[in-house]
Amino acid sequence: MSKKKWYAGALIVAALFAAGFASYGSMARKVHASAAAQQKYESPVAPRAEQVKALVNEAYEKFKTDNRGKNADYIPYLAKVDSNLFGIAIVTTNNQMYSTGDVKYSFSIQSIAKVFTLALAMKELGGDAVFQKVGSEPTGRAFNSVLAVADMPTHTGNPLVNAGAIATVSLIPAANETERWNKILAFYSQAAGEKLSLIDEVYRSEAATNQGNRALAALLLKYERIYSDPPQAVDVYTKECSVGVNAVQLARMGAMLANDGINPATGERVIPSEDIPEILSAMMMAGLDDGSGGWAWRVGLPAKSGVGGGILAVVPGKGAIAVFAPPLDEAGNSVKAQDVITYVANKLNYNLFSPASVGWKQ
Ligand code: GLN
Repeated sequence: MSKKKWYAGALIVAALFAAGFASYGSMARKVHASAAAQQKYESPVAPRAEQVKALVNEAYEKFKTDNRGKNADYIPYLAKVDSNLFGIAIVTTNNQMYSTGDVKYSFSIQSIAKVFTLALAMKELGGDAVFQKVGSEPTGRAFNSVLAVADMPTHTGNPLVNAGAIATVSLIPAANETERWNKILAFYSQAAGEKLSLIDEVYRSEAATNQGNRALAALLLKYERIYSDPPQAVDVYTKECSVGVNAVQLARMGAMLANDGINPATGERVIPSEDIPEILSAMMMAGLDDGSGGWAWRVGLPAKSGVGGGILAVVPGKGAIAVFAPPLDEAGNSVKAQDVITYVANKLNYNLFSPASVGWKQ
């Protein structure tokens, strides 16, 4: 490029930026114009950097004193986690990261894992097969409900409640349980763009107290809705719930979903494009368990909660927000995480059911 052209180009970029028109996404596109592969998948609708940074801090300050809710205690380990821990992370589809608070603390992913096992099962077997073997109907009951298994025509309900999630684990093709577990963990790591591992103490605490989940698996066997040895499927399920993540890793896993299945940090395709809408729809229907209807009403974003205190919400094409704060409401969803995501989603017009989310202006 001639010096003159370069100078003219630089002037235009500088002028755009100064005028406040340049989103971080388009700046990044100009800076990395040579990385053709990356550019191909870069979202044209990633949010503006300054705006997101300010909001993350604002939300942290606003909700850090909200002390409603209570740590989960049916898994002994979770009762001991510091209730004041609080971290927020946003990762965008163009791999920008904004975070504040306790974002290096590794907490157990718990039920958020279910989303990624669902994704792996779909990748291996196809969406239709998983839908047929597990289903995607909200149960309207607690995530670990035995009644839902007995009542629902599918028995499994959906892949994001315990029964459906245990059935989904049992679907992952593998020669044995060790191979199945290794496959699941490797897939989560690919989704996060870095190696994840089990928090052994969480696993032992949960394995010693998971009689309810073992009962669910036994009941699924009666209805022929579990596809590998039930106790072993529960064991792998318990392990997947005990995987440690921090808020940034979790947000990156969500950003991969928002980015059509391509991890924005590694550029690697993790999930086939056609699976993304189905996975996000499952999150919308059941991601906050029996709080899902209220969540859809107020926030309008696919999300998944875990009793470890994490919630991950996905904004298709734009990015993901992960919040960690252990105290939970009655449905088992982190109170602060719901506060923060609701606040940020409203400010940024993220509600998918609002025309404003695709740029509609009054
Ligand atoms: N491991 C937990 C359980 O099986 C997961 C529940 C959750 O996070 N909602 O009860």
